[in-house]
Amino acid sequence: MSEITRQQLDAYLDEALSEADTARVEQALRESEPLRRSLRQAMQERDRGEHTPGAIWRRERLTCPGREVLGSYLLQVLDDAEQDYIDFHLNAVGCPYCQANLADLRAVQTEPAPRAKERRKRYFQSSAGLLQPRDRG
Ligand SMILES: [Zn+2]
Repeated sequence: MSEITRQQLDAYLDEALSEADTARVEQALRESEPLRRSLRQAMQERDRGEHTPGAIWRRERLTCPGREVLGSYLLQVLDDAEQDYIDFHLNAVGCPYCQANLADLRAVQTEPAPRAKERRKRYFQSSAGLLQPRDRG
């Protein structure tokens, strides 16, 4: 098992690692609770200064994109700057709230369209039945 050093965690938080190293750190984070603790600690230490990346991280986290924006992100219809910002928010910041939201949106978007349409149609028909005027006979 490869060891991740504090320097590597700092570089990870600064987004200074190569893609391969970033992937390696993320893999290690998934597998190791002690490493996740170290990462949280590194973030907290950074949070003590206002102009550190940690402070920026904290500010970024306060500006979670809305659900519509995340949906547009999934469809890749945002402009480059927004797309990058959400990439950063989801992948570098790793906001768990937005990741959960995105996973949910992805599940909805991958549902085959005809099925969703069919369900709406059935729903419409059953409500139409309830709304039928009484016989005026
Ligand atoms: Zn978020």
